Amino acid sequence: MDFDIVIIGAGLVGLTTALACAESGATVALLDRKTISVGVDGRASALSSTSLRVFENLSVDLQGLTQPIRDMLVTDGEPNSPWRLHFETGDETGDLGALIENPLLQSALIDKVDATEGLTVFAPIEVHDVSRSLQGVSVLMDQGELTTRLIIAADGRESVLRRKAGITVQRFDYDAASLVTTIAHDLPHDGLAWQRMIPGGALAVLPLLPNGEHVNRSQIVWSARADGIQAATEMADKSFLGLLSEKMEGYLGDMSLAAPRHNYPLRLQIADGFTKIRLALVGDAAHVIHPLAGQGLNLGIRDAAAIAEGVKMSRQTGQDIGVASLLEYDLWRNSDTRVLGLLTHAIAESSRLNTGFIGHTRRLGLSLTNRSEKLKSSLRKQASGEALDLPSLMRAR
Ligand SMILES: Cc1cc2nc3c(=O)[nH]c(=O)nc-3n(C[C@H](O)[C@H](O)[C@H](O)COP(=O)(O)OP(=O)(O)OC[C@H]3O[C@@H](n4cnc5c(N)ncnc54)[C@H](O)[C@@H]3O)c2cc1C
Repeated sequence: MDFDIVIIGAGLVGLTTALACAESGATVALLDRKTISVGVDGRASALSSTSLRVFENLSVDLQGLTQPIRDMLVTDGEPNSPWRLHFETGDETGDLGALIENPLLQSALIDKVDATEGLTVFAPIEVHDVSRSLQGVSVLMDQGELTTRLIIAADGRESVLRRKAGITVQRFDYDAASLVTTIAHDLPHDGLAWQRMIPGGALAVLPLLPNGEHVNRSQIVWSARADGIQAATEMADKSFLGLLSEKMEGYLGDMSLAAPRHNYPLRLQIADGFTKIRLALVGDAAHVIHPLAGQGLNLGIRDAAAIAEGVKMSRQTGQDIGVASLLEYDLWRNSDTRVLGLLTHAIAESSRLNTGFIGHTRRLGLSLTNRSEKLKSSLRKQASGEALDLPSLMRAR
């Protein structure tokens, strides 16, 4: 069977990339080694305003599934700490995005994939071999052979496709992990996303929509040394809640656990190139960054919008999709990724090392940035992707 594009990996980024490429009229095959169904990973994602726009333009129905972020606060210390950086909706900085639980986003994407013509899913499958040449690409899987002009690797941080293509990575293991869970609490969160820098890491308390069981809910992402996070994941519920309340200093009142605790090891990993002959990397296959700024998936959604723009242009001008779509992709996605990767790395490292001088510089940095509307605005633009030359899927239509 022949397709314009074959995508390997149907995680959140693979699903989005498939929809984005199909929207530009290309025929797309989406492959995954697992059945494509809604999983449980305990996570919620903070989506930037431009990511929300991509889903809107792709007619992915997120109605009633997202909790808008009305305020965003980063502090070094308790919520009233003077060492703070504060953004709010309605000021010059504009829209701050929204939180969505990953299974809800995944379910909405799968529904749209199922309803999209020209998009064929092969899952679960095993890919045995991929051979790329100047003429085209052949994908050998247990269900037969596919031929295509362009192959997209969306197969996650351990990407086999990336490794087989000989693309090396720059990798830094943080010896740190994130504990993720959901809490129910007495006081309303009012749409505030609060991140507290703590010695050795960060604690994020992110607003969620009510569900049938609980009116006031928040996602906890607690990043710290791997051994401490392992211990916090395994301790009794009561002891864990005691530890968490201590770090939250009464913010949100009494609380209880509303979901199991999950543990994610952290690394910074950026591929040395995002393209090879007839191959593009998207999502975690291209980049993995520290979650403290909640940007990994947003970067992947921007990859999807960028590659789809290339596909659209190639089709409009009658050029070979597997060549013309890649011309600007690497250059464009590389710089955005490296800026955000380095920014989050610097913040994570300042928190991990946390010596007197570094800690003081970080606190001063927060406070000075908070006083400059210009700096705040350019930070927000960088994080949302608005600082870029936007592909059409990221623009208001
Ligand atoms: C604790 C934590 C919190 C986070 N919070 C945020 C946030 O708030 N906002 C944000 O933007 N980002 C966030 N991120 C980052 C975000 O979750 C990831 O960047 C994103 O989920 C990556 O998606 P992906 O589709 O690229 O990869 P994956 O989810 O890893 O998907 C890869 C897919 O490829 C398939 N696959 C792998 N190998 C093969 C193969 N050989 N053949 C076939 N299929 C294969 C897998 O089955 C899987 O379906 C967070 C990350 C962590 C760890």
